[in-house]
Amino acid sequence: MDDTSKPHKTLPIKEGIFKIKDGQYFLVGTRCKSCRRHLYPPVEICPFCFVRDVEEAYLSRRGKLQAWTVVWVPPAGFEAPYGVAYVDLPEKVRVFAHLADYKADGLKPGMEMELVIGKIKVDREGNEIIGPKFRPVANGG
Ligand SMILES: [Zn+2]
Repeated sequence: MDDTSKPHKTLPIKEGIFKIKDGQYFLVGTRCKSCRRHLYPPVEICPFCFVRDVEEAYLSRRGKLQAWTVVWVPPAGFEAPYGVAYVDLPEKVRVFAHLADYKADGLKPGMEMELVIGKIKVDREGNEIIGPKFRPVANGG
């Protein structure tokens, strides 16, 4: 058996950081029941008050573009160029994620972005690794 005969899978870049609810993808973070802060990616202990009293929290699918850049020299396994961005969600969480299209016209700080899930890279076994990405909200959307 060689590798090419194996069916390739689609796998999340990290288990549990996004889920489907009501037919839509959401980033899944943590909400601390003590200080009420939201955290992403999810944690087991709140880094602000060191309690384990945390719960799963589905985060907003939209946020504001804070900063972004294009990666031309990728780490192993990634295909360059691609864009990465910081997006601020209403839960006061700053998410680091890929841009769906680094060439997207008119990217500017503060613009409204929305979550999509797409291919991040292909692993050594040929599996497609998917994860969160952001794209500008279409006009009028
Ligand atoms: Zn806390």
